[in-house]
Amino acid sequence: METNEKITVTSPLLPDLGDFNEMLQEIWKSRWITNNGSFHQQLESALVDYLKVPYVSLFTNGTLPLITALQALRITGEVITTPYSFVATTHALWWNGIKPVFVDIDEKTGCIDPNKIEAAITPKTTAIMPVHVYGKPCDVKSIQDIADKYGLKVIYDAAHAFGVEVNGESILNAGDLSTLSFHATKVYNTIEGGAMVMHDAKMKQRIDYLKNFGFAGETEVVAPGINSKMDEIRSAYGLLNLRQVDKAIEARHQVAIRYRQELKDVDGITYWNDMVGVRHNYGYFPIFVDAERYGMTRDDLYFKMQKQGVYGRRYFYPLISEFSTYRSLPSASRENLPVATKMAEEVICLPIHHVLTDQDIDRVLNCIKR
Ligand SMILES: *Cc1c(COP(=O)(O)O)cnc(C)c1O
Repeated sequence: METNEKITVTSPLLPDLGDFNEMLQEIWKSRWITNNGSFHQQLESALVDYLKVPYVSLFTNGTLPLITALQALRITGEVITTPYSFVATTHALWWNGIKPVFVDIDEKTGCIDPNKIEAAITPKTTAIMPVHVYGKPCDVKSIQDIADKYGLKVIYDAAHAFGVEVNGESILNAGDLSTLSFHATKVYNTIEGGAMVMHDAKMKQRIDYLKNFGFAGETEVVAPGINSKMDEIRSAYGLLNLRQVDKAIEARHQVAIRYRQELKDVDGITYWNDMVGVRHNYGYFPIFVDAERYGMTRDDLYFKMQKQGVYGRRYFYPLISEFSTYRSLPSASRENLPVATKMAEEVICLPIHHVLTDQDIDRVLNCIKR
């Protein structure tokens, strides 16, 4: 009998309910449910250790740290960014009254192409906002060289890059600030949640003020801050998930290994291998469909998979630059973004998560192989 059970692109990592209940009882007993409580503090320090970074500030989602990072560094004018990302990356610029300038991506990583950044710099450019898309590290060295040469700040949208390391060092240490999302669909989640990573105590203090209305004491407000604090319940949940995230990443790794083994001889389907020296988190498994060689378009394959209950996602189609809000920007034209345009037309992210079974993987592969 054919099973109709849906196979989704991801599945949230959930803490053991008994363990969570114990923590909830502690929270109920303390009657302290938000505003930098004990679990909030514990999670920040546990993340500093796990991520191997100097300072972490928790947020209530992954979009507000992007908006707040731009505020904290007082970014204005124009910011160079990638169209190949989740729309929140560019929205964060818009919310700060900043003009996004899209630069094309590198076909080997999906990340912004450093060779194309300089041509997009104008006297109004103040920062670069790249994305470690799918958790693949950007060329942070080349980006920093350009930033230093022109006096620009660098803010990484590292929403996909939880735990990613290059030669043993966290990718989150690159640039001036990095932001994370702990949304349910990410490798590590606190249901909704996020964080910012910074290099020094002064910036940590500034960010902690900004995410709490700018309060620097009972009666002192030092900046027009916002409210983007994480609460005690999700902090506790996050502590429990941190204990099992390595196991989940390893389970995802095994799925990636199988996909690569079985797809390597499928004509017209390509994928990326692991990068040398990189600890990946296997948050996504993008494949690229060459319609001519494969004999079917990406969309035909995508909908054929859906008919068989396999729900991949076309991340990142359409490009951010294609949405009506941003389409009229000069840098949004397809001629300016040929690599991103092609990638957006060919990509399907296959289901990958920690509870995907061998039979599930077979079902995904049976849709693609012929
Ligand atoms: C998920 C995501 C965000 C937004 O995070 P939320 O926690 O959903 O607000 C930002 N940027 C990228 C690249 C993302 O994938």
